[in-house]
Amino acid sequence: MLIDKKLILEAKQKIGKQAAILIAEDLQLKNFDKDNLKASCPFHPNDDNPSFIFNDKPDGLYYHCFGQCDKKYDLIDHFIFFYHMTYINAIKKLFEIAKIEYSFGEQGAKTKTDREYKYPYPEGELGNEVIEYAKLRKISEETLRQFDIGQDQHGNMVFNYYDTNDVLCMVKYRPAKKVEKGELKYWLQKQKGDSRDVFMPLLFGMNKVDITKPLCITEGEGDTLSVAESGFRNVVSVPNGASKYEWITENWDFLEQFEKIILFFDNDKPGVATRKEVCSRLGHWRTLFVNLPETIEKDGKEIKVKDANDVLFYFGPEKVLDFINSAQEMPIPDIIDLSKADDFDIESAPGLKTNIDGLDQIIYKFVLGSTVVLTGAKGSGKSSLLNQIFVCNAIEQGMDVFLFSGELSTSVLKSWVELTMAGQENVTMKNKFVHVIKPEAKKAMKDWYEGKIWIYDSRDNDVDKVLEKAIAVTRRFGVKVWVIDNLMTLDIHSTNDGDKYECQKKFIVKLSNLAIQYGVLAVLIAHPRKTSELRRLVADDVSGSNDIGNRPEYIIGVHRYSNKEKAGEKNKKGGWVVGKEPIKYDVDIDVFKNRPVGFIGNVPLYFSYADYRFYRTPKELWRRYGWSKDTSPLRTDDPNSHEEIPEGFE
Ligand SMILES: [Zn+2]
Repeated sequence: MLIDKKLILEAKQKIGKQAAILIAEDLQLKNFDKDNLKASCPFHPNDDNPSFIFNDKPDGLYYHCFGQCDKKYDLIDHFIFFYHMTYINAIKKLFEIAKIEYSFGEQGAKTKTDREYKYPYPEGELGNEVIEYAKLRKISEETLRQFDIGQDQHGNMVFNYYDTNDVLCMVKYRPAKKVEKGELKYWLQKQKGDSRDVFMPLLFGMNKVDITKPLCITEGEGDTLSVAESGFRNVVSVPNGASKYEWITENWDFLEQFEKIILFFDNDKPGVATRKEVCSRLGHWRTLFVNLPETIEKDGKEIKVKDANDVLFYFGPEKVLDFINSAQEMPIPDIIDLSKADDFDIESAPGLKTNIDGLDQIIYKFVLGSTVVLTGAKGSGKSSLLNQIFVCNAIEQGMDVFLFSGELSTSVLKSWVELTMAGQENVTMKNKFVHVIKPEAKKAMKDWYEGKIWIYDSRDNDVDKVLEKAIAVTRRFGVKVWVIDNLMTLDIHSTNDGDKYECQKKFIVKLSNLAIQYGVLAVLIAHPRKTSELRRLVADDVSGSNDIGNRPEYIIGVHRYSNKEKAGEKNKKGGWVVGKEPIKYDVDIDVFKNRPVGFIGNVPLYFSYADYRFYRTPKELWRRYGWSKDTSPLRTDDPNSHEEIPEGFE
């Protein structure tokens, strides 16, 4: 359950200075001065000064140590740490004292209605094996108790994951000893009666954190305990290490409450990549990261460290706090020290394959963080190509999609996407125009792409609104491909033809910047400026120094061969005119610009009207997307005639 921050502040203000007295009594503060509300700091030794001073301003209301430890401590901290309360119980207590009525009815409510999911059973309480092992890692029994660490009957360490209603939702284990190579480091509790893991992507410790204070997120439970041990208690861990992001979507509303988030991830490759992604998804304006070096000097020796626990172990709690206090902002690309720039390696850079052989040979892959402009005359098939490569293929390759279509209704769009996704073997043609997909295929596809394709579903085509939604689905759901079909149907705020191109240019610059910032592939359909007739575009039509050509990394043209071009032209002698020989293909894809690897060229392709697919080989025509359970061999023939494609497709 989420509790309104304003109400919490109101309660704190109603309690006011009384909080100072309550805390002083419980902690038996030494040298407590009742009139000036100050005492010796209980969090660092030998404080003769009295440096633990209560800040009684309405937006303060906490003790602050002006001595060496800089600790801040308010009534909520007190309830959570001194009384080991959960956050809800702490707020309950706070409201009780402030005499604010509030319903905490959701506490203890199990919200998972999914019948497949069975809540875990509680494990044993903290025991000696775990306490001894944690001590070796410099983590105290007190911290273990704060985080409700348990021990199972084999002496393994138990991590209890609670949701914000204080309901136990997941139990994770690790051996209470150093894990040898080949040994299991972590495992989950299995559902009673079967072998499935009980898994819910919650954050470890989330029911103990105060949403009104900065939150630290670590990569593992051990790091969370280490950060807490160091004195920074508002800390949680992701449930299953780096490179996984379901926890962002699952805990979105919870995370949205924090004004400041600090990521303390490992300094290895996955940790660094993950913090980058998390910073952009949680919002770079509030998310900082700890830049942990690979080695830290101690007494003239360089000591290797990889995470928060190593820092605690070798350097003590102050060093951990130092790192948290010096957390950095993720730089927004503008200028960069070249030596600190990411290495570019097309092989390992994340990107999207077209899965059309000839095209992949030129492009290799569309690298995430780039912008693609797809262009072609009306009826050339660019929307179909976009659907195949940037929707169906993207989903197949694990990249979710945001789609804006200024011309097609959502249901038409859906039938289009499904047609290509189904493939000819699941489609029958009722007449020249009506495609019917097998119902069982339709159902399997829906299950497969559910939650992966987000359609902009509003009549308001304002450019800022569309981009705002694109950013929102990327932050919340991790969408990686933005498709904008097309530039002409976007309201880009131009008032006359003269400033239209200026506005388009501004839009493309903005789109390209966002693609870099969020690490997404932005795909924009743009109609050529002048060509009203079905003329093949040349590089000059779209690239060069004109309105839209500079910024995008890729410019792709789609040319559909006319029946005349396909038929060819004979000379008087009965031979073919040079350059006008008959053409067996249906379309030609021109790669006009391909900045990451530099190759340009063209790839002639066939088009299948039955499922709107582009292909060169039968393997590409008959390919099955991930939804299909059919394992029979693919057909190797091409049943399409390629004589002419009916008019009226895009
Ligand atoms: Zn202190």
